[in-house]
Parts: sequence; C-alpha cells; structure tokens
Amino acid sequence: MAQLSDDCFAFGGPMQTVDETTAIIASRLDAVTESELVPLLGADGRILARDIVAPLPLPPFTNSAVDGYAVHGEDLPQTVEKVFPVAGRIQAGMARGLSVAPGQAARIFTGAPMPDGADTVYMQEDVRLDDAGRVVLPPGLKRGANVRPAGEDIPVGKVGLQAGQAMRPQDIALAAALGMTQIEVRRKIRVAIFSTGDEIVAPGSVRGAAQLFDSNRFMLMAMLTRLGCEITDLGVLTDDSRRIADALSEVAPKHDLILASGGVSTGEADYVKSAVESVGKLVFWRVAIKPGRPVAMGVIGGTAFIGLPGNPVASFVTFAHIARTAILALAGARQQPLVPAFVRAAFSYKKKEGRREYVRASLRRHENGSYEVVKFPREGAGLLSSLVETDGLVELGEKTTRVEPGHTVPFLAYASLL
Ligand code: AMP
Ligand code: MG
Repeated sequence: MAQLSDDCFAFGGPMQTVDETTAIIASRLDAVTESELVPLLGADGRILARDIVAPLPLPPFTNSAVDGYAVHGEDLPQTVEKVFPVAGRIQAGMARGLSVAPGQAARIFTGAPMPDGADTVYMQEDVRLDDAGRVVLPPGLKRGANVRPAGEDIPVGKVGLQAGQAMRPQDIALAAALGMTQIEVRRKIRVAIFSTGDEIVAPGSVRGAAQLFDSNRFMLMAMLTRLGCEITDLGVLTDDSRRIADALSEVAPKHDLILASGGVSTGEADYVKSAVESVGKLVFWRVAIKPGRPVAMGVIGGTAFIGLPGNPVASFVTFAHIARTAILALAGARQQPLVPAFVRAAFSYKKKEGRREYVRASLRRHENGSYEVVKFPREGAGLLSSLVETDGLVELGEKTTRVEPGHTVPFLAYASLL
C-alpha cells in the first residue's frame, strides 16, 4: 500500500481551481505497484501494468485487401486493357509460397497471402473474364493497390499498447491479434466507502420522519465499480466520532483510498472531521467548483481520504472531477482528460467569474439536424431528478460569466465521464 505523508494534501491558497486541484492530486498520489496476470477477456477495464511490444508484425504477412486478381506491378496496363491467363487460386488461410509469373494473374481472395512476384490486386468488380477464362484488366490502377503489407498496422517491436491504458474492447482485440492469452494488469485499487449524517439511513432500514435513504453511497459505489475499484462498503457511519475513528484506522492499512460523502461541510459539528483528525490529518480544499465546494482531503495512516459533499449533485460532480483523478492516479491509469463536445446553447445563464460551473443539461435535436443543449429548469444540488433526466454537464470555465442562446458551450456527456 502506498504511504502518503500527512501533509500530502497541504495547499497554501484560499481557493484553488479545478485544474490546480487535479494537478496536485495527480502529482502527489502514487500508483499501486502490484500487478497480476489475467486472461485476455478479464483485462477489460483493467489498467495495463507494462507496455505491450508487438512480438510479430500486424498483419503478420502481406495479403490481399480484396477479392480479385493479383498481378506483377510491371505488368499493369497503362493505356489500354490487357488480357492475362489466370494461373492459380489463393484463398485466405492457404500456405504461402505460391508465385505468379510475369504476364500472369492469380485469382486471390481477401486476407489471402500475396503470391511471390505479385504486388498489386485488381478488385473482381473492376475486371471481366473473356470466353477463354482469361481475365481482362483495365488500365489506370496504381501499383501496390489493394495490398496490405506485413506490419502496416503495427511493425514488429513497436509498442502496441502503453502501460497505464485502461483496457477497452479494441485494446483487447490488439492484444489478441498479437497472440497474447494473458495480460499483466495492475491490481485493482481498494476503496472503502461510507456515508455519514444523522439524517441518512440505508435503504432497507427503518426511516425516521426526518431521515432520508442513503443514495450517495450507491451512486458512488456504482461509479467506483465502473472505474474498476474493489469496494469495501462500510455503510452509514453516524454514531460517534470515536466509532468512525476506529473504523477509519482499521480499514486504512488495507485500502488505497477511503471515500466518504456528507458531513464534511466546514462549520458543521461533524463526526467525520473530528474522527479523521483524531487518526490522521484533514484539510479542506476550497475548490472553485459549483456544485461541489468544499472537498475534504485527508491522510489516515498513509492512506488517502476524500470527503465529498453530501448533496447528491455535488457528490456526483466532485467525484467525476476530483475523486476520479485520485482513483486514476492510484490505479496507475493514464489521466484521460474529459473531452467535451461543443454544442449550441439553447438557454441563458449567469455565473460568477473565477469558478468552474457544471450545469445539468440535455441534448435536443434541432430541426436543421444539429444538436443544441438545454439547461435543466431547476438548480438545487439535492435534486436527483436533475441528474436522471439530463444527458450531461455543460462545463463553464472560470472566465465565463454568462451564456446566451446561440453560444457554443462545452458539453460533457455522462457517458464520457466514467
Ligand atoms: P452535508 O454535506 O452533510 O452538509 O449534506 C448536504 C446535503 O446532502 C444534506 O441535505 C444531506 O441530507 C444530503 N446528504 C448527505 N449525505 C447523503 C447521502 N448519503 N445520500 C443522500 N443525501 C445525502
Ligand atoms: Mg451533514
């Protein structure tokens, strides 16, 4: 388990931007070092532990890209069509070693190895056969056409997949094409999670009149799962500071991150704050992000602690931007910037300069076929419906002070956040 120093999250400024925040996290958290071998398919979503160097070229041999006729490049008809006897038939999967003599053509199919001597393939749709069964090739084809040279995709010895890659289906395909059956991935990071607040009870328990069912923990656990974390669910911790402190010091040595939501607002008479402070170190980061401020960052026995705000929307947004960065850093994953799509705003909005705001919004198809983005009509950070009924977040930068209909705004679809 990585050991953080107590002052790991120390930050001098009164308010920090989202970019400053993520830069601090990415630079101060070290990736887990342990790795394991998993079968090819088991690597989906896992973080590649080391570079994969191609042990063979892709494609492994030069082959035809089409069904057609292979000929010598010197034989290509220049101005008028030419007739070639068809000598040989090469199907995909046939052993190599066939050759074509000058002045001859070979029938060839997609994926079949190119016969020696031939370097160009005519598509069957572009030729005709004469009565004698010879093939008539028109002029105008470029030498080398319709051939896939060995190694054109990946030459042997090239890094095909880089360490830190979160394996996607296409990455698994590449590893398979290189003949691999097992992949070395970093071990999953272990995250302990709990909710807090006297007003919070777990679904399934008896709910008092002034209580609500815990939604954050389930949202956050689903997000953690999508990021490939191993989760220890500590439930709702409300009783007392001592019990929370005991739980924290017990789980800290076995986890890479402890994630909490609620109960970390400044000024609140909170158990979490005093609990973390009694067994570790806690700092409040005033991140210039809305919704979401403040976020508590701590270190407990060398393990990172992140306390997210309790309001579900603030929890969601700070998880996606702050906790996600920490998780990628701990997991050894390349930090992937969240890349917005730029769409036309169909709403107006005013905001304060100096902080970044995420506005819940939906995409709507305009009559002219383009997409525009519509703001959710209400703004409360407690409205789960605002997350459920929208498609993503409009990201308004620190310098932006207003949006008018017709402005182009960056839009992060929920699907791209995790
Ligand atoms: P806090 O950050 O503790 O001040 O909480 C802010 C708001 O979020 C309060 O209205 C809480 O009731 C609510 N809240 C806190 N934790 C949760 C949770 N786990 N699930 C749903 N709402 C929560
Ligand atoms: Mg509270």
